[in-house]
Amino acid sequence: MLWDDFLKSNYHDWRGSGYYEDRLDKPGWLEQLLTNHNLPYPGAPSAKEMDDLKQLRHQILHLVQRLTEHKITDASDLEGLNKTLSVAPMILQIVGTESGFQLVTAPLQSGWASIGAEVATSFVRLLTEGDPSRIRICENPDCKTVYYDETRNNSKRFCANNVCGNLMKVRRFRARQKVDKT
Ligand SMILES: [Zn+2]
Repeated sequence: MLWDDFLKSNYHDWRGSGYYEDRLDKPGWLEQLLTNHNLPYPGAPSAKEMDDLKQLRHQILHLVQRLTEHKITDASDLEGLNKTLSVAPMILQIVGTESGFQLVTAPLQSGWASIGAEVATSFVRLLTEGDPSRIRICENPDCKTVYYDETRNNSKRFCANNVCGNLMKVRRFRARQKVDKT
C-alpha cells in the first residue's frame, strides 16, 4: 500500500546501530516510491511541500501509535489527515476492469498536494475498509517499521520474520546464555 511504503521513509537501522535516515531527503527515493505506485512525479518538492509531507507522515505515525496502543482516537487525531485531504480536491471516475467496473478517486490537479492526498487516501481507505486492528509496529525496538498484519490468526510480530524475527531470536538466545553463565 502507498501509505505504509511512504512511512518506510522513516528508516531506522533494524540491526541496532542507532543509525537513522530520513529517506524523504534522499535524492530519488520519493520518485521511486511514486513510480512503484504508478503516480506521476511532480519534480523535487519545495521546502514547504517537503514540510507538508513530513507533517503528514508524522500525523499518520501518530494515529498508528494510538491504534497499536488501543487508545481512543478523537477528532483532533484526524485533523491533519482531513487538512491534507481538503487541499487537493478529488474527482470520482469509473473504470472498466477484467471483472467489471470500479469506482476510483483521482486528484483534480497534479502536484505534491495531490500526492499527499493520495497517501492520506490510501491510509484512510485501510482505516475504513480494512481492519485497523491489524496495523502493527515491528516488535524489534530498533526497527519500528509499520506494517499491516495479513496473517490468518493475526499473529505477525515482526515486519519480516527472516529479518527482525531472526535477529530477535538471536538476541533472546544470547541474553539467555549470559544469564546461564552468571
Ligand atoms: Zn522490523
